[in-house]
Amino acid sequence: MDINQISELFAQAIGAKNVITGERLALRGTGYCAASYDGDVLLTPCSAQEVSEVCRLAAEHGLAIVPHGGLTGLVQGTATAPGQVALSLEKMNRILDLDPVQGVVTAEAGVTLQQVIDAAEPHGFAPGVDLPSRGSCTLGGLASTNAGGIQAIRYGMARDNILGLEAVLADGTILDLNNTLLKNNAGYDLKQLFIGSEGTLGVITKITLRLHSRPSSVQTALIGCAGTEDLFQVLASTRKAFGASLLSFEAMWPEFFTQIATHLGNRLVSPDCGIYGVIETGQWGEPGQDDALTVFLAQCFEDGLLQDGTVAQSETQRRTIWQLREDADVIESLSGPCLSYDVGLRLNDIPGYVEQLQERIARDCPGVGCYVFGHMGDGNLHIMAGPAPDPISHAAIDGAVYGVLQQFAGTTVSAEHGIGLEKRAHLPLSRPDAAIAAMKQLKAALDPKCMLNPGKIFAC
Ligand SMILES: Cc1cc2nc3c(=O)[nH]c(=O)nc-3n(C[C@H](O)[C@H](O)[C@H](O)COP(=O)(O)OP(=O)(O)OC[C@H]3O[C@@H](n4cnc5c(N)ncnc54)[C@H](O)[C@@H]3O)c2cc1C
Repeated sequence: MDINQISELFAQAIGAKNVITGERLALRGTGYCAASYDGDVLLTPCSAQEVSEVCRLAAEHGLAIVPHGGLTGLVQGTATAPGQVALSLEKMNRILDLDPVQGVVTAEAGVTLQQVIDAAEPHGFAPGVDLPSRGSCTLGGLASTNAGGIQAIRYGMARDNILGLEAVLADGTILDLNNTLLKNNAGYDLKQLFIGSEGTLGVITKITLRLHSRPSSVQTALIGCAGTEDLFQVLASTRKAFGASLLSFEAMWPEFFTQIATHLGNRLVSPDCGIYGVIETGQWGEPGQDDALTVFLAQCFEDGLLQDGTVAQSETQRRTIWQLREDADVIESLSGPCLSYDVGLRLNDIPGYVEQLQERIARDCPGVGCYVFGHMGDGNLHIMAGPAPDPISHAAIDGAVYGVLQQFAGTTVSAEHGIGLEKRAHLPLSRPDAAIAAMKQLKAALDPKCMLNPGKIFAC
C-alpha cells in the first residue's frame, strides 16, 4: 500500500485530521529518536475504541504499528521504518479520576508525568516515579519502559506504582486490566506483561497509578567526596539515618559535573572533588527537623567523608542543584552528539567498573569523552560517550562499555531505559538464552504476526 492508500484506510476509522502525513508530519520534532517518522504516517486516535479499530485494520492489511508517547525514550524504541505506521497517544491526554481517599489517579496513556504531578499536588499527593523528562514523557511511555528515575530508591520503578491499565492487543482486542485496589490477586496479574515490554505486546491506553503523600518539606544537598568509597559510606549512613525519608541519592563523576557546572556558572561546591552526589530527603507532618540533613552532613564532614557540600536554602537553590544533575543535554551541546548507556551493577563493583571503563576508552577510543552520572542508590549508571561519528567508533565505545561490564557478575545492559533497537545486540549479555526464548514465545502468543513495534527488544 502507498501512503495515500494507508491514509485513506485509517481516515475512515479515526477521521482524516487524525492521520498526519506530508508537511504536517515534517513540521513535527522527532524527539530523541531521529527515525520516529520514517514511516511517513502518524495516527492520533482519540479513544481506546479508535486504537482498537486502528490495530484491527493494521493487522488485516499487514501494517505494523509503532506506539509513540512523548518521544523521550533513549533506545530508539519509537523508530518507525518505511511501511510501518506510527500511533501517538497524544490526543488521549485526560486525567479521568483522582481519588484522594484511595490515593490513586486514573488517566489516559497520553497524559504527561508533569500533568499528574500538577493534578496530585493540591491533594497533597505525588506520583512515586519522577524523571528529568517529566514535562514530555507520558504515562504510556513510562509504563511500557518501566521507567525508574530519581526516586526509585524510595518508591521503586513504574511497575511498583502501576495498579492497573488498559491495553489494546495487536488484533484490536481491548484488554481491561484496570484496577484501583492495592491488593488484587484474582488470577494472573496480566498488567505486568505490558509494563516494560516497550510497546511490543500491546498499546497501553489507560493507566491507574498509586499516589504517595507529598512531603511537607524536602531538603536537598549537593556534596563532594574524595572518591566513590566515601560516597558509598555517605549512602550507607544516609539510609540508616533517614530510612524511608530518603527520596534520592544520585552521583556525578567529575568529567560530567565540571562540564555542566562550568556551563551554568555554578560555584555551589568546589570543582576539585573526586565525585559529587545529590541527596534529597523528605519530611512529613509538622515542621520540626527541617535541618536534619544539614546536621547529618556536618557529622559526615567531621568523619572525613565529605570534601565539600551545601544544603539548598531555597527552592531556587534546590532547582539549581537538580539542574546540575538533570541537564545532561548540556554535555552534548558542548561535546557534540554522544552515545548513551544505562548499565546496572552491584554497588561494590561500580568503582572498579568506572575506572576500567575510563582506561579502556582512553586506550581504544582516542578523543572520546566519557561522562558518568546516575542513580547511585539504585546501582544504575548513565554513561555518555562521544563523539562517535562513524560505525567504527560506535563499535569501539560499545566494546568498551559492554566489554568491561562483562567482567563483573550480576550486571545489566539496561537498568531503566529498555532495549529498543539500540541495545538489542547486547540483550544476551543480561538475559540467558532460555529467558529470551520465553520472551519470544510470549510475543508470539500475544502478537503472532509481529504487528506491534516489530524488531524492538529482539527480532520477531
Ligand atoms: C532528559 C531525559 C531524562 C530521562 N531520565 C530517565 C530516568 O531517570 N529514568 C528512566 O527510566 N528513563 C529516563 N528517560 C527515558 C524516558 O524519558 C523514559 O523512558 C520515558 O518513560 C519515556 O516516555 P515517553 O512517553 O517519552 O515514551 P516514548 O519515547 O514515546 O516511547 C518509549 C517506548 O515506549 C513505547 N510506548 C510509548 N507509549 C506507549 C503506549 N501508550 N503503549 C505501548 N507502548 C508505548 C514506545 O513504542 C517506545 O518503545 C529520560 C529521558 C530523557 C530525555
